[in-house]
Amino acid sequence: MGRLVPRSFRARLTLTVVALVAAVLLVVSAIVVNRLDAYFAEQEEGALTARALEVGSIVAVVAVPASGVDPVVEAGNTLNATVADRVSAASFLSFLANAVAKADVTVEIGGASRTSSGTVIVTAAPGGTARAALTAPPEVRESRETLRASAVFGPVQSGELSIPWGVKVTLSNPYTTRAYTLATVTTLLAVTVLGALLAALVMGALIAGRFTRPLRRLSEATHRFGGGDLANRVPAADIGTAYTEVTDLARQFNLMAGRLEESVGLVRRDRDRSREFLADVSHELRTPIAALRMNTELLQGQAGDDSATRREFLESSRVQLERLDWLAQNLLDLSKLESGLLALDLRPDDLRTTVESAVEQAEAAARRREVGLSLELPESPLRIRHDPQRIGQVVGNLVGNALKFTPRGGHVLVALRPHRDGAQLEVADTGVGIDAAELPHIFERFYRGSSANEARGSGSGLGLAIVKSIVDMHAGRINVESRVGHGSTFSVTLVRDPRAVSSAPVGAEPGGTPAPGGASAASGAGTAGEAAGAAEPPTSGAAGGGDMAISS
Ligand code: ADP
Repeated sequence: MGRLVPRSFRARLTLTVVALVAAVLLVVSAIVVNRLDAYFAEQEEGALTARALEVGSIVAVVAVPASGVDPVVEAGNTLNATVADRVSAASFLSFLANAVAKADVTVEIGGASRTSSGTVIVTAAPGGTARAALTAPPEVRESRETLRASAVFGPVQSGELSIPWGVKVTLSNPYTTRAYTLATVTTLLAVTVLGALLAALVMGALIAGRFTRPLRRLSEATHRFGGGDLANRVPAADIGTAYTEVTDLARQFNLMAGRLEESVGLVRRDRDRSREFLADVSHELRTPIAALRMNTELLQGQAGDDSATRREFLESSRVQLERLDWLAQNLLDLSKLESGLLALDLRPDDLRTTVESAVEQAEAAARRREVGLSLELPESPLRIRHDPQRIGQVVGNLVGNALKFTPRGGHVLVALRPHRDGAQLEVADTGVGIDAAELPHIFERFYRGSSANEARGSGSGLGLAIVKSIVDMHAGRINVESRVGHGSTFSVTLVRDPRAVSSAPVGAEPGGTPAPGGASAASGAGTAGEAAGAAEPPTSGAAGGGDMAISS
């Protein structure tokens, strides 16, 4: 039985519609046929009674002239002999049965009396009963019916000597068209029911299809989604046509799918970034290691015999080792900052002191590069809860970059101002500037812009990533505005108390305000480079490969 019930919702819905329509039609048809049958039977009975009366009147019409001057029924309920002969004549009776009554006929003639209720009772006189069976073949559509009807003609008072008499006619088993009409109506009904069922099947299938389409789309979408097609969604057109519950379900599915896709995307991007990071780290380490190996091989050879050359190579090796150490330190800091393992030493100190000391440490490099370096500080103390060492590192990295990317004769201005959130630190230079296309990337790890080659050194691309991480940890924001050929301005906004900001580290501002004709980028997270105030990175020596400088 269970196997006969379809499993799909659509088929079940269709079947339910068809079953409902079938049930309604069957009940209606049964009632109609039943009522029609009763109606036809009533009609036929009425007609039979009418024919019985007709037969009675014919008998009376025949009886009266047949008796002549004698009474039809004399006292003592004696039927006139001539009348009896006429009425019982086979041809007459056959005429009555086959032509008039179309039924078996029983004729009773005799004395008639009326009861108090008005009913006429005929008592058949001896020899006054005659019977005839219907022998004529039925006409088309006619058939025998087990019906019976009687009628009384009379009472008649035909002469002075006559007693009131009457004719009682009983008709039975007539020919009628009732069965045929009923069969016709039933066939018609059956055909109509079948047609209606077929229409119900088609309509049901269409309606069920329309009802279940969103569900099918949802099911298809979940299947494809389960198969790994994360971009798959229930089409909006299908959602629109569905009923509320399915619309909600489909919307929720799409929402969930969107979030899941986003999360998977994030995880993938993170995985790719980690791979890239590993590749970048390996690449960065290769340069100093290759230089060290070359120095060692040269020292092992003839170059080692000459003391001046030996000193030069040893110095070069020292610089490479310093670079390696610096790189390792930066990477360690960056990973600690990004993983949140590094706890900030937050103090409610005067921010002026931190900035001033970081700028002082950069002064030697500024002088060497012949770039002006000035500092603007507010007159009153600016108490901001911060980690002086890490914020010093931020200032050091920003000033270091500004000096690195500003040509001789240029100027770097460091300005600290109170801000409605806490404080704002600005490092503005008149240097090479940053291309608008590069701005969104400068805070990424190991990202080095195209201007890096033109500048006096090419860094490692870790400095701004460290800055961003530190600023993030302070729940601050960093923003950059730049115009190629005119310079760049990095602004760091720090809050009064990072602990009061619930969701620290706070993310980036979605883009800064571009300077006229320039571009801007903003970010909120940074990472540490060297220790506080790292001003000048170790510069490679002669053997270290060109004029590479490492900024922090
Ligand atoms: P690095 O300076 O070691 O290359 P950073 O992370 O400090 O790495 O900087 C990333 C890139 O951002 C640099 O390579 C440079 O292209 C660009 N940049 C940073 N600061 C400046 C600046 N003041 N002027 C111009 N370009 C800058």
